[in-house]
Amino acid sequence: MTYNINEKGYYGEFGGAYIPEMLYPNVEELRLKYLEVMAEPDFQTEFKALLKNYVGRPSPLYFAKRLSEKYNTKIYLKREDLNHTGAHKINNTIGQILMAQRLGKKRIIAETGAGQHGVATATVCALMGLECIVYMGEIDIARQAPNVARMQMLGAKVIPASSGSKTLKDATNEAIRDWINNPVDTHYIIGSVVGPHPYPDMVARFQAIVSEEIKWQLQEQEGNPNPDYVIACVGGGSNAAGAYYHFLEDTNVKLIAVEAAGKGVNSGESAATSSLGKIGIIHGSKTLLMQSKDGQITEPYSISAGLDYPGVGPLHAHLFQSGRAEFIAITDDEAMEAGLELCQLEGIIPAIETAHALAIFKEKPFQPNDIVVLSLSGRGDKDLSTYNNYFNI
Ligand SMILES: *Cc1c(COP(=O)(O)O)cnc(C)c1O
Repeated sequence: MTYNINEKGYYGEFGGAYIPEMLYPNVEELRLKYLEVMAEPDFQTEFKALLKNYVGRPSPLYFAKRLSEKYNTKIYLKREDLNHTGAHKINNTIGQILMAQRLGKKRIIAETGAGQHGVATATVCALMGLECIVYMGEIDIARQAPNVARMQMLGAKVIPASSGSKTLKDATNEAIRDWINNPVDTHYIIGSVVGPHPYPDMVARFQAIVSEEIKWQLQEQEGNPNPDYVIACVGGGSNAAGAYYHFLEDTNVKLIAVEAAGKGVNSGESAATSSLGKIGIIHGSKTLLMQSKDGQITEPYSISAGLDYPGVGPLHAHLFQSGRAEFIAITDDEAMEAGLELCQLEGIIPAIETAHALAIFKEKPFQPNDIVVLSLSGRGDKDLSTYNNYFNI
Protein backbone atom coordinates (compact mmCIF):
# COMPACT_ATOMS: atom_id res chain seq x y z
CA MET A 1 0.00 0.00 0.00
CA THR A 2 1.29 3.44 -0.88
CA TYR A 3 -0.20 6.66 0.37
CA ASN A 4 1.29 8.81 -2.34
CA ILE A 5 -0.16 9.70 -5.68
CA ASN A 6 0.20 7.36 -8.69
CA GLU A 7 1.20 8.53 -12.16
CA LYS A 8 -2.43 9.10 -13.13
CA GLY A 9 -3.04 11.42 -10.22
CA TYR A 10 -4.91 9.01 -7.93
CA TYR A 11 -4.56 8.17 -4.27
CA GLY A 12 -6.09 4.71 -4.30
CA GLU A 13 -9.40 5.28 -6.06
CA PHE A 14 -9.55 9.00 -5.28
CA GLY A 15 -8.28 12.01 -7.21
CA GLY A 16 -7.92 12.37 -10.98
CA ALA A 17 -8.93 15.37 -13.05
CA TYR A 18 -12.67 15.56 -13.80
CA ILE A 19 -12.76 18.86 -15.62
CA PRO A 20 -14.65 20.49 -18.47
CA GLU A 21 -13.00 20.05 -21.86
CA MET A 22 -12.26 23.78 -22.05
CA LEU A 23 -10.12 23.67 -18.93
CA TYR A 24 -8.00 20.81 -20.21
CA PRO A 25 -5.13 22.88 -21.74
CA ASN A 26 -4.57 24.86 -18.50
CA VAL A 27 -4.57 21.84 -16.20
CA GLU A 28 -2.51 19.79 -18.64
CA GLU A 29 0.19 22.48 -18.86
CA LEU A 30 0.49 22.46 -15.09
CA ARG A 31 0.45 18.65 -14.92
CA LEU A 32 3.27 18.34 -17.43
CA LYS A 33 5.47 20.95 -15.79
CA TYR A 34 4.94 21.09 -12.04
CA LEU A 35 7.40 18.39 -10.98
CA GLU A 36 10.07 19.59 -13.36
CA VAL A 37 9.74 23.20 -12.17
CA MET A 38 9.75 22.20 -8.50
CA ALA A 39 12.92 20.17 -9.03
CA GLU A 40 14.88 23.10 -10.48
CA PRO A 41 17.64 24.17 -8.06
CA ASP A 42 16.75 27.84 -8.66
CA PHE A 43 13.16 27.20 -7.74
CA GLN A 44 14.10 25.37 -4.55
CA THR A 45 16.59 28.08 -3.55
CA GLU A 46 14.06 30.86 -4.01
CA PHE A 47 11.24 28.91 -2.31
CA LYS A 48 13.40 28.06 0.72
CA ALA A 49 14.74 31.63 0.99
CA LEU A 50 11.25 33.14 0.99
CA LEU A 51 10.01 30.61 3.54
CA LYS A 52 12.91 31.57 5.77
CA ASN A 53 13.13 35.33 5.35
CA TYR A 54 9.57 36.29 4.45
CA VAL A 55 7.34 33.69 6.10
CA GLY A 56 9.62 33.28 9.14
CA ARG A 57 10.36 29.56 8.91
CA PRO A 58 11.25 27.23 10.45
CA SER A 59 8.22 27.58 12.68
CA PRO A 60 8.96 26.44 16.24
CA LEU A 61 8.09 22.95 17.47
CA TYR A 62 7.03 23.87 20.97
CA PHE A 63 6.75 21.40 23.85
CA ALA A 64 3.50 22.41 25.57
CA LYS A 65 4.38 21.65 29.19
CA ARG A 66 1.17 22.58 30.97
CA LEU A 67 -1.08 21.03 28.33
CA SER A 68 1.05 17.86 28.49
CA GLU A 69 0.75 17.71 32.28
CA LYS A 70 -3.00 18.11 32.10
CA TYR A 71 -3.43 15.21 29.67
CA ASN A 72 -0.52 13.12 30.98
CA THR A 73 1.26 12.73 27.65
CA LYS A 74 3.95 14.61 25.67
CA ILE A 75 2.41 17.22 23.41
CA TYR A 76 4.36 19.26 20.86
CA LEU A 77 2.70 22.10 18.95
CA LYS A 78 3.93 22.87 15.43
CA ARG A 79 3.53 26.64 15.39
CA GLU A 80 2.18 27.47 11.92
CA ASP A 81 0.27 30.29 13.64
CA LEU A 82 3.55 32.20 13.81
CA ASN A 83 3.95 32.37 10.02
CA HIS A 84 3.47 35.66 8.21
CA THR A 85 -0.31 36.14 7.73
CA GLY A 86 -1.00 33.83 10.66
CA ALA A 87 -1.47 30.33 9.24
CA HIS A 88 0.00 27.55 7.11
CA LYS A 89 -1.71 28.78 3.91
CA ILE A 90 1.20 31.07 2.98
CA ASN A 91 3.52 28.04 2.43
CA ASN A 92 1.35 27.02 -0.51
CA THR A 93 0.75 30.48 -1.97
CA ILE A 94 4.51 31.23 -1.95
CA GLY A 95 5.13 27.96 -3.82
CA GLN A 96 2.36 28.59 -6.34
CA ILE A 97 3.33 32.18 -7.09
CA LEU A 98 6.86 30.99 -7.93
CA MET A 99 5.31 28.26 -10.09
CA ALA A 100 3.15 30.87 -11.88
CA GLN A 101 6.22 33.01 -12.58
CA ARG A 102 8.14 30.03 -14.02
CA LEU A 103 5.16 29.29 -16.27
CA GLY A 104 5.18 32.90 -17.50
CA LYS A 105 1.80 33.85 -15.98
CA LYS A 106 1.06 37.51 -15.26
CA ARG A 107 -2.37 37.30 -13.69
CA ILE A 108 -3.44 35.35 -10.59
CA ILE A 109 -6.94 34.24 -9.68
CA ALA A 110 -8.15 32.52 -6.52
CA GLU A 111 -11.35 31.58 -4.75
CA THR A 112 -11.87 32.13 -1.07
CA GLY A 113 -14.51 31.25 1.53
CA ALA A 114 -13.57 32.82 4.85
CA GLY A 115 -10.97 34.96 3.15
CA GLN A 116 -7.86 33.36 4.66
CA HIS A 117 -6.67 31.89 1.38
CA GLY A 118 -7.62 35.11 -0.42
CA VAL A 119 -5.41 37.10 1.98
CA ALA A 120 -2.49 34.66 1.56
CA THR A 121 -2.86 34.93 -2.24
CA ALA A 122 -3.18 38.74 -2.23
CA THR A 123 -0.05 38.86 -0.06
CA VAL A 124 2.17 36.91 -2.48
CA CYS A 125 0.78 38.82 -5.48
CA ALA A 126 1.76 42.11 -3.83
CA LEU A 127 5.16 40.60 -3.05
CA MET A 128 5.72 39.69 -6.70
CA GLY A 129 3.85 42.58 -8.33
CA LEU A 130 1.29 40.36 -10.08
CA GLU A 131 -2.34 41.22 -10.73
CA CYS A 132 -4.65 39.45 -8.26
CA ILE A 133 -8.35 38.68 -8.60
CA VAL A 134 -10.17 36.90 -5.79
CA TYR A 135 -13.66 35.45 -6.22
CA MET A 136 -15.72 35.38 -3.07
CA GLY A 137 -19.39 34.59 -2.39
CA GLU A 138 -21.56 37.64 -1.71
CA ILE A 139 -22.61 36.25 1.66
CA ASP A 140 -19.00 35.55 2.64
CA ILE A 141 -18.02 39.11 1.64
CA ALA A 142 -20.61 40.44 4.07
CA ARG A 143 -19.63 38.17 6.97
CA GLN A 144 -15.82 38.34 6.50
CA ALA A 145 -15.43 42.09 6.06
CA PRO A 146 -11.98 42.41 7.75
CA ASN A 147 -10.43 39.91 5.31
CA VAL A 148 -12.03 41.70 2.35
CA ALA A 149 -10.43 44.94 3.58
CA ARG A 150 -7.06 43.18 3.93
CA MET A 151 -7.20 41.84 0.39
CA GLN A 152 -8.12 45.26 -0.98
CA MET A 153 -5.35 46.95 0.96
CA LEU A 154 -2.92 44.43 -0.54
CA GLY A 155 -4.09 45.47 -3.99
CA ALA A 156 -6.35 42.54 -4.89
CA LYS A 157 -9.65 42.95 -6.68
CA VAL A 158 -12.41 41.06 -4.84
CA ILE A 159 -15.22 40.01 -7.17
CA PRO A 160 -18.52 38.91 -5.59
CA ALA A 161 -20.05 35.59 -6.67
CA SER A 162 -23.77 36.19 -6.61
CA SER A 163 -25.12 32.90 -7.97
CA GLY A 164 -26.37 29.85 -6.03
CA SER A 165 -25.78 29.91 -2.29
CA LYS A 166 -23.37 32.87 -2.74
CA THR A 167 -20.60 31.06 -0.82
CA LEU A 168 -17.37 29.16 -1.52
CA LYS A 169 -18.76 26.70 -4.05
CA ASP A 170 -20.09 29.55 -6.19
CA ALA A 171 -16.84 31.51 -5.89
CA THR A 172 -15.03 28.39 -7.15
CA ASN A 173 -17.35 28.17 -10.15
CA GLU A 174 -16.62 31.81 -11.01
CA ALA A 175 -12.86 31.26 -10.71
CA ILE A 176 -13.06 28.25 -13.04
CA ARG A 177 -15.07 30.29 -15.53
CA ASP A 178 -12.43 33.03 -15.44
CA TRP A 179 -9.64 30.48 -16.00
CA ILE A 180 -11.41 29.02 -19.02
CA ASN A 181 -11.67 32.52 -20.48
CA ASN A 182 -8.02 33.40 -19.76
CA PRO A 183 -6.06 30.23 -20.51
CA VAL A 184 -2.78 31.81 -21.58
CA ASP A 185 -1.73 34.43 -19.03
CA THR A 186 -3.54 33.31 -15.85
CA HIS A 187 -2.66 30.90 -13.02
CA TYR A 188 -5.33 29.70 -10.61
CA ILE A 189 -4.01 29.36 -7.03
CA ILE A 190 -6.10 26.74 -5.23
CA GLY A 191 -5.91 26.97 -1.44
CA SER A 192 -5.99 23.38 -0.23
CA VAL A 193 -5.19 19.81 -1.32
CA VAL A 194 -8.32 19.77 -3.48
CA GLY A 195 -9.10 20.34 -7.16
CA PRO A 196 -8.05 18.36 -10.23
CA HIS A 197 -4.69 16.58 -10.41
CA PRO A 198 -1.97 17.95 -10.09
CA TYR A 199 -3.26 20.42 -7.46
CA PRO A 200 -3.65 18.03 -4.51
CA ASP A 201 -0.13 16.68 -5.00
CA MET A 202 1.43 20.08 -5.74
CA VAL A 203 -0.13 21.72 -2.67
CA ALA A 204 0.85 18.75 -0.46
CA ARG A 205 4.45 19.07 -1.66
CA PHE A 206 4.53 22.79 -0.83
CA GLN A 207 3.06 22.14 2.62
CA ALA A 208 5.43 19.18 3.19
CA ILE A 209 7.96 21.65 4.62
CA VAL A 210 5.95 21.29 7.85
CA SER A 211 6.75 17.59 8.41
CA GLU A 212 10.28 18.06 7.03
CA GLU A 213 10.89 20.47 9.91
CA ILE A 214 9.07 18.34 12.49
CA LYS A 215 11.51 15.51 11.78
CA TRP A 216 14.71 17.40 12.53
CA GLN A 217 13.10 19.37 15.34
CA LEU A 218 11.98 16.16 17.08
CA GLN A 219 15.39 14.61 16.48
CA GLU A 220 16.89 17.64 18.27
CA GLN A 221 14.45 17.60 21.18
CA GLU A 222 13.67 13.90 21.62
CA GLY A 223 16.56 12.15 19.87
CA ASN A 224 14.10 10.51 17.45
CA PRO A 225 12.62 12.07 14.31
CA ASN A 226 9.35 10.16 14.53
CA PRO A 227 6.48 10.93 16.90
CA ASP A 228 3.85 8.36 17.92
CA TYR A 229 1.01 10.53 16.63
CA VAL A 230 0.51 13.45 14.26
CA ILE A 231 -2.80 15.29 14.68
CA ALA A 232 -4.32 17.97 12.44
CA CYS A 233 -7.69 19.49 11.65
CA VAL A 234 -9.05 18.86 8.16
CA GLY A 235 -11.06 21.27 6.04
CA GLY A 236 -9.80 20.50 2.54
CA GLY A 237 -6.79 18.96 4.24
CA SER A 238 -3.68 21.04 3.44
CA ASN A 239 -2.28 21.61 6.92
CA ALA A 240 -2.86 17.92 7.66
CA ALA A 241 -1.20 16.89 4.38
CA GLY A 242 1.84 19.01 5.25
CA ALA A 243 2.10 17.64 8.79
CA TYR A 244 1.67 14.00 7.62
CA TYR A 245 3.67 14.10 4.40
CA HIS A 246 7.04 12.68 5.49
CA PHE A 247 5.37 10.17 7.81
CA LEU A 248 2.83 8.74 5.36
CA GLU A 249 4.75 5.57 4.52
CA ASP A 250 5.93 4.97 8.10
CA THR A 251 2.97 3.24 9.72
CA ASN A 252 4.58 3.40 13.20
CA VAL A 253 3.57 7.05 13.13
CA LYS A 254 -0.19 7.14 13.68
CA LEU A 255 -2.15 9.85 11.93
CA ILE A 256 -5.29 11.49 13.30
CA ALA A 257 -7.53 13.77 11.22
CA VAL A 258 -10.04 15.96 13.02
CA GLU A 259 -13.16 17.10 11.20
CA ALA A 260 -15.84 19.58 12.20
CA ALA A 261 -19.01 17.95 13.52
CA GLY A 262 -20.70 21.35 13.79
CA LYS A 263 -23.78 20.93 16.02
CA GLY A 264 -23.36 17.13 15.92
CA VAL A 265 -22.55 14.62 13.16
CA ASN A 266 -26.22 13.72 12.68
CA SER A 267 -27.70 17.15 13.40
CA GLY A 268 -27.98 18.17 9.76
CA GLU A 269 -25.56 21.00 10.56
CA SER A 270 -22.12 19.47 10.20
CA ALA A 271 -19.01 19.27 8.03
CA ALA A 272 -17.91 15.75 9.08
CA THR A 273 -17.15 14.56 5.57
CA SER A 274 -15.69 11.15 6.35
CA SER A 275 -18.68 10.09 8.49
CA LEU A 276 -21.31 11.55 6.18
CA GLY A 277 -19.65 11.59 2.76
CA LYS A 278 -20.13 9.33 -0.23
CA ILE A 279 -17.93 9.02 -3.29
CA GLY A 280 -18.58 11.81 -5.74
CA ILE A 281 -16.90 14.54 -7.74
CA ILE A 282 -16.24 18.02 -6.43
CA HIS A 283 -13.92 20.72 -7.82
CA GLY A 284 -12.55 18.35 -10.41
CA SER A 285 -11.58 15.41 -8.25
CA LYS A 286 -13.16 12.14 -7.16
CA THR A 287 -13.37 12.09 -3.40
CA LEU A 288 -15.69 11.79 -0.41
CA LEU A 289 -18.28 14.51 -0.20
CA MET A 290 -21.50 15.28 1.58
CA GLN A 291 -24.39 14.91 -0.83
CA SER A 292 -28.09 14.23 -0.97
CA LYS A 293 -29.54 10.95 -2.34
CA ASP A 294 -29.68 12.38 -5.84
CA GLY A 295 -26.08 13.61 -5.70
CA GLN A 296 -26.60 17.29 -4.90
CA ILE A 297 -23.83 18.67 -2.71
CA THR A 298 -25.09 19.36 0.83
CA GLU A 299 -24.34 22.75 2.43
CA PRO A 300 -21.82 22.12 5.19
CA TYR A 301 -21.87 23.85 8.55
CA SER A 302 -19.19 24.54 11.15
CA ILE A 303 -18.54 27.41 13.54
CA SER A 304 -15.12 27.67 11.89
CA ALA A 305 -15.21 29.04 8.37
CA GLY A 306 -12.04 27.16 7.36
CA LEU A 307 -13.54 23.72 8.05
CA ASP A 308 -16.87 24.52 6.47
CA TYR A 309 -16.25 22.50 3.27
CA PRO A 310 -18.45 19.67 1.92
CA GLY A 311 -15.55 17.46 0.76
CA VAL A 312 -12.02 16.46 1.68
CA GLY A 313 -8.98 16.24 -0.58
CA PRO A 314 -8.48 12.88 -2.31
CA LEU A 315 -5.42 12.07 -0.16
CA HIS A 316 -7.62 12.21 2.93
CA ALA A 317 -10.40 10.16 1.35
CA HIS A 318 -7.74 7.51 0.73
CA LEU A 319 -6.29 7.76 4.25
CA PHE A 320 -9.81 7.32 5.61
CA GLN A 321 -10.80 4.44 3.37
CA SER A 322 -7.53 2.55 3.85
CA GLY A 323 -7.58 3.10 7.61
CA ARG A 324 -4.13 4.75 7.53
CA ALA A 325 -5.53 7.74 9.43
CA GLU A 326 -8.11 7.76 12.20
CA PHE A 327 -10.87 10.32 11.63
CA ILE A 328 -12.57 11.97 14.58
CA ALA A 329 -15.35 14.58 14.48
CA ILE A 330 -15.44 17.41 17.03
CA THR A 331 -18.44 19.66 17.67
CA ASP A 332 -18.48 23.47 17.79
CA ASP A 333 -18.83 23.39 21.58
CA GLU A 334 -15.94 20.97 22.12
CA ALA A 335 -13.71 23.05 19.85
CA MET A 336 -14.54 26.34 21.56
CA GLU A 337 -13.72 24.88 25.00
CA ALA A 338 -10.42 23.48 23.71
CA GLY A 339 -9.52 26.86 22.18
CA LEU A 340 -10.10 28.60 25.50
CA GLU A 341 -8.14 25.91 27.32
CA LEU A 342 -5.05 26.50 25.14
CA CYS A 343 -5.24 30.23 25.91
CA GLN A 344 -5.37 29.56 29.64
CA LEU A 345 -2.73 26.81 29.80
CA GLU A 346 -0.23 27.99 27.20
CA GLY A 347 -0.94 31.65 26.41
CA ILE A 348 -1.73 30.86 22.77
CA ILE A 349 -5.01 31.89 21.11
CA PRO A 350 -5.58 29.32 18.35
CA ALA A 351 -7.74 29.65 15.23
CA ILE A 352 -11.10 27.92 15.77
CA GLU A 353 -10.13 25.46 13.01
CA THR A 354 -7.08 24.46 15.06
CA ALA A 355 -9.16 24.33 18.24
CA HIS A 356 -10.96 21.32 16.73
CA ALA A 357 -7.68 19.41 16.63
CA LEU A 358 -6.92 20.44 20.23
CA ALA A 359 -10.24 18.99 21.42
CA ILE A 360 -8.87 15.51 20.68
CA PHE A 361 -7.28 15.34 24.15
CA LYS A 362 -10.69 15.17 25.80
CA GLU A 363 -11.85 12.50 23.31
CA LYS A 364 -8.95 10.12 23.24
CA PRO A 365 -6.48 9.07 25.91
CA PHE A 366 -2.74 8.93 25.09
CA GLN A 367 0.01 7.12 27.02
CA PRO A 368 2.40 9.11 29.25
CA ASN A 369 5.32 8.24 26.98
CA ASP A 370 3.54 8.98 23.71
CA ILE A 371 5.00 11.82 21.67
CA VAL A 372 2.10 13.65 20.09
CA VAL A 373 2.66 16.39 17.51
CA LEU A 374 -0.29 18.66 16.77
CA SER A 375 -0.42 21.04 13.82
CA LEU A 376 -1.27 24.46 15.25
CA SER A 377 -2.50 25.57 11.85
CA GLY A 378 -3.31 29.21 12.61
CA ARG A 379 -3.78 31.96 15.15
CA GLY A 380 -7.08 33.09 16.54
CA ASP A 381 -6.96 36.86 16.03
CA LYS A 382 -9.46 36.55 13.19
CA ASP A 383 -11.81 34.63 15.52
CA LEU A 384 -11.82 36.93 18.53
CA SER A 385 -15.36 38.17 18.06
CA THR A 386 -16.63 34.58 17.68
CA TYR A 387 -14.82 33.57 20.89
CA ASN A 388 -16.09 36.68 22.67
CA ASN A 389 -19.69 36.12 21.65
CA TYR A 390 -19.53 32.45 22.57
CA PHE A 391 -18.03 32.91 26.02
CA ASN A 392 -19.55 36.34 26.75
CA ILE A 393 -16.10 37.62 27.57
C1 LIG B 1 -7.92 27.32 6.01
C2 LIG B 1 -7.54 26.84 7.36
C3 LIG B 1 -7.70 25.48 7.74
C4 LIG B 1 -8.35 24.46 6.86
O1 LIG B 1 -7.70 24.23 5.65
P1 LIG B 1 -6.87 22.89 5.37
O2 LIG B 1 -6.60 22.95 3.90
O3 LIG B 1 -7.71 21.73 5.77
O4 LIG B 1 -5.63 22.98 6.19
C5 LIG B 1 -7.27 25.09 9.00
N1 LIG B 1 -6.72 25.97 9.86
C6 LIG B 1 -6.55 27.27 9.54
C7 LIG B 1 -5.95 28.18 10.55
C8 LIG B 1 -6.96 27.75 8.29
O5 LIG B 1 -6.79 29.04 7.98
